[in-house]
Parts: sequence; structure tokens; C-alpha cells
Amino acid sequence: MKMSKHPLHLLILLTGALFCTLTSFYSGDPHHPTHLTQKLALRTIIIDPGHGGFDPGTSGLFSLEKDVALAISLKLGAAIQEAFPNVKVVYTRTTDIMPGIGADIPPGYTKHSALAAGLNYRAELANKSKADLFIAIHCDNDGHPAGPFEVHRIVGHKYVGKGKKRHRVPIYDSYQGKHTREGTEAFIWKADRSGFKGSAINERGGDEVSDSSNEGNVDSAAFDVSSPEAVMRAQLYEQKYFANSALFATLAEDEFTRAGRQSEGVLQRDEGIRVLQATGMPSVLLETGFLSNEEEEKYLNSEDGQNELVRAMVGALKRYKATLEGHPLPETDTTTHTPPKAPKPTYSNPTNQR
Ligand SMILES: [Zn+2]
Repeated sequence: MKMSKHPLHLLILLTGALFCTLTSFYSGDPHHPTHLTQKLALRTIIIDPGHGGFDPGTSGLFSLEKDVALAISLKLGAAIQEAFPNVKVVYTRTTDIMPGIGADIPPGYTKHSALAAGLNYRAELANKSKADLFIAIHCDNDGHPAGPFEVHRIVGHKYVGKGKKRHRVPIYDSYQGKHTREGTEAFIWKADRSGFKGSAINERGGDEVSDSSNEGNVDSAAFDVSSPEAVMRAQLYEQKYFANSALFATLAEDEFTRAGRQSEGVLQRDEGIRVLQATGMPSVLLETGFLSNEEEEKYLNSEDGQNELVRAMVGALKRYKATLEGHPLPETDTTTHTPPKAPKPTYSNPTNQR
């Protein structure tokens, strides 16, 4: 799955995207036909269930991230079709496969190159579909495998040995660790450094990544970040898509919080989520909960839990669309009227596979 060999075609596509961008930018103009901007604000949404096939993602006690992400994604797509009959939904996968690759690692591929090809396929599909918004659905872990785990800590010291061999050693206490992390977080591609993109990404162009289990870290091998279309996409992202990515991410976290979920907020990463930076449109990766936490795992696998998450995401989409169209909606819970919080950028290091 190589990048398009037809930069011109892509340039035309990107110019189209820029036109839409400018059109919606001018939507505040009273002389501008609003039906046009309404039509353009949100026409195609691409839903990307994380992982798939040979890549299970993280796992809980009884479920795998790839399956939970797919179940939530399919429900999200159906709910979007119901709420926005004119919006086209495109999935990167609807079954247990690595998109564009299949269930298993094909002959001639390593796991690393198959993951990279899967990510490129996802991004290319989004770009070819001329999607206006890319939503990746994932589940998280807290850095420990699901299930009971031992934690050792030093509670004091004692002296052992005699004479010259006498020395101090720590006294350990061990206890059962608890998986308490819960809730949601949204990731967007970091774009706040001046002159990031082209150059910053290009420097990483040929890197090999050590841990192929990391989300989207499997990247550079197959994605030509120095190509003219990649540079142009990056510039467009900086101009417009970043703001919209942050807007949707903030609204989604706001709606999750209103539904009673904990929210860790909107986070930016400058590496690790290749699919976000390869997509020429606003793109957000939503971590819907922690499979490492047994209570969360039950919630994420339940009909009620999945439906609650989907309702929150659709609520966020309604507010997102309305905001782009110049008539922002209040939050879904109409009893309060707190304006959405501005995104508070924080910087997190990519942790274990998400
Ligand atoms: Zn994941």
C-alpha cells in the first residue's frame, strides 16, 4: 500500500479540501448562502475501529480491544446514519481484519510492515473518501495486564551480615495492585510548534520503530512524508484541521463527562498516531475506556455502555456540525449551559499499546 503515485490528482483533491475550508470559513458572511456551508460542513465521516485481524490491540480479562472497538464503531456508524441521514459513513473495517490487509499477516510481510500497510490503507481510504472527519475508536490500558498483579514497594531497611559484610537491604512489602484507571481521553495530532510538520515529520521519515505494538508507531516504513502531497496535507492541517480536531475532541470529552464518564481530556502527541497525521482532514482518536480495569471492561462490552458512549459521540457530532455551520448548540444536557471548555493541551508520552 504505497502512497499515491499521482501527486497531481492529490493536489486537486487537496485544493478541493482547501476550497471547502475557505467556504466554511466565510460562513459568517450574511451574503453567503448558508445552505451551501451546511451541505459542506459534514458530508462524510470515516470511522476507524482500531487494530484488527492479527493485531488485537490491548486486552482485558475476557475481551480484546479490536473486538470492542469494532462493536462500538458499528453502533456509532448506525447512530450517525440515524441522526444525520445525509452524512455518508465510511468504515475502515467492518469485520475482524487489518484494513486493506486481511486477518493474517500476508506472505512477504513482517508484522511491522503489515501494520504499517494497514495504517496507510486507513489513511488513504479516508483521503480518497474525501472525508470531513476521521474518528478512530480505541480502548486503553493502564500499563499493566488485566487481572491481579503484584506490586512491590520498599517499606523500610534492615541490616544483614556480620562484620565487614554487614550492609543495609530494603524491606519489601507486596500487595495486590488494583486497576483503577478509568474513563476516556481524546488524542489529536500535535501541531503547536512552529514549523513542525514538513520538517519535523521528514526527519523521522526513515526511522524504524522498536515496539511495533505501539499505536500507530509502525509508520514511517511505508509512508513517504517528504512527498509534496504529504507536505501540503501537513500545511492544510496546521491551517484548519487542527482547530477542528481540537473542537471535536473537546466536545466528545465534554459529552462523555456529561454521560458520567471520567475524562482525561484532550491530549496531543507528536508521534505515535500516524493515522492521525496521514489523514488530510480533522482527525481524532478516542480512547473509550480502560480494558485493564475489570469494571470498565464490563462496561465497554455491555450494550448499555456502548450505547451510552455512542450517544455521547453523536451528541458531540451534532454540536460540532452546528458550530461549523455557525450556530453552536448548547450541550446535550439542556439543564446546564456551561460552554465547552477550551482544549487544554497536555503532553503525554506514548505508553504501551493503546
Ligand atoms: Zn488501540
